[in-house]
Amino acid sequence: MDHIISRKISNDWNLSSKAIEQYTSFFSEVIKPAIKTKYLSHLVTTIEDMVNDKRMTKFLKKLDDNGIEPDKLRGFLASRTIRLYSIILEPVNLKRRATTRHHPSGAIIYYNAHYDEKYKRILIAHELGHIVNKELLENTKDSEETANLFAYIAMDDKNKFYTEECTNYVSKSDIQILNDIINTCPT
Ligand SMILES: [Zn+2]
Repeated sequence: MDHIISRKISNDWNLSSKAIEQYTSFFSEVIKPAIKTKYLSHLVTTIEDMVNDKRMTKFLKKLDDNGIEPDKLRGFLASRTIRLYSIILEPVNLKRRATTRHHPSGAIIYYNAHYDEKYKRILIAHELGHIVNKELLENTKDSEETANLFAYIAMDDKNKFYTEECTNYVSKSDIQILNDIINTCPT
């Protein structure tokens, strides 16, 4: 962190340099390396939510059909703090490039840990295509070709996001970020 910025944060928000150091290193050493392994995270969580909602509707209907009224459970499920479906990404030493194992409570995408970052993302997009085929699209047969088609559409959209859309979210400088936080967030 820039010296002028850390002095301003320390003065304006009454935070010690020790606290600033702690948060800076926690982010760069713990959170940042973990973020790097959350490939296609927006896409993963969006598909995960959609399958989760589908399972939840089915599950609650089953309870209703049996005359069970689990008010508390209904609230937990509706808030999505309890999930009926999760997608897990698991790096492994595989002979294959990637594969997905479907479980009643979710899917685990195993991907070859030795591939380059760019190809890992493509492989995971392809596996997500299989999940979309199996869980979300009605009247479709899962196939390698449609999983590839999904991967193409998803990666093309990501590409457009990185090259076009996300320029709107970029701040011109670190001082600009700080000023935006001061103007936006409560203190
Ligand atoms: Zn496949």
